Amino acid sequence: MKKILIVMLVLGLMCATFAGCSSGETGSEGTPETSEKTYISLATGSVSGVYYPLGGAFSSIINNNIEGANCSVESTGGSVANILLIHEKESELAFVDASSTYNAVNSKGAFIDKNIENVRGILSLYPEAVQIVSTNSDIKSVMDLKGKKVAVGAVGSGTETMAKIIFELYGMSYDDITEDYLGFSDASTGLKDKTIDAAFIWAGVPTSGIMDLGSQHDITLINFEAQDIEKLKKVSPYCVPMSIDKDIYSSLTSDVTTIAIPALIVGDADLSEDFVYNFLVETFENIGVLQSAHVRGNDITLETALEGLDEIPLHPGAERFFKEKGLLK
Ligand code: GLU
Repeated sequence: MKKILIVMLVLGLMCATFAGCSSGETGSEGTPETSEKTYISLATGSVSGVYYPLGGAFSSIINNNIEGANCSVESTGGSVANILLIHEKESELAFVDASSTYNAVNSKGAFIDKNIENVRGILSLYPEAVQIVSTNSDIKSVMDLKGKKVAVGAVGSGTETMAKIIFELYGMSYDDITEDYLGFSDASTGLKDKTIDAAFIWAGVPTSGIMDLGSQHDITLINFEAQDIEKLKKVSPYCVPMSIDKDIYSSLTSDVTTIAIPALIVGDADLSEDFVYNFLVETFENIGVLQSAHVRGNDITLETALEGLDEIPLHPGAERFFKEKGLLK
């Protein structure tokens, strides 16, 4: 009897620590309401990016409005790391760029030898701009990075994957530069201290790492020509041109055109349908919380909610929500 009790206790604990195993509202058959917690680890990115502050806002929406849910925000390497965290069942929700998701679903790029089957689409958020920033006004194009020390993004970031793709677009590779795998905060410090010449920062605009740098130095962003962006679409189908006005960053010296790709929220297939449905209901009911956390929160709308999500299977909770809103049949 004692043994049975211990086994039941251990099983109960395992269930409670496994997110999506059950939530108070879903209740698997006969489960008493509200007695169980849904633990959510939300994978974001660098603290100097946009995923992280918006992640804090999503987490407070979840914790304040979804009964039984307990969400914590993790700072991570970025999109590639986040998809792997979901794949390995270490995170339940994650911010990712649509290009990394496309690669994961199609076993391309960083996921070439991986079979990622449990990542589900939940919500498209805002466009993320590829910003190649420098304090050297002679760096105007990707070609000008030849021979330079370049921060290509943290290990596990979507930024780093994008850096490789962009060099390939110009017939270049890491052999033409000295690459440094720095996250946004370290890249910003490296540019200030002149230990690097340029940095890839792929994030929502404005990005705090660039604002911080721009408060002390004149900065330039590399401009992309329309025909190059067209070529890039063959490898990264969701990219579109985006102009960045020089007023966005106080010390940017001219307007630029760059590449933007949607940022998404994805989740583990094992999250309960009710949790994901409630997550979307509460997100749109509390959109002000996201808008106050970062200006890109204003881009989160029903009209754009499915952009960049067509390659990845939608979570059933998202399907239910978007059907109800008339966005899906
Ligand atoms: N898109 C970036 C990446 O995965 C992260 C952006 C951010 O942290 O806001 O590398």
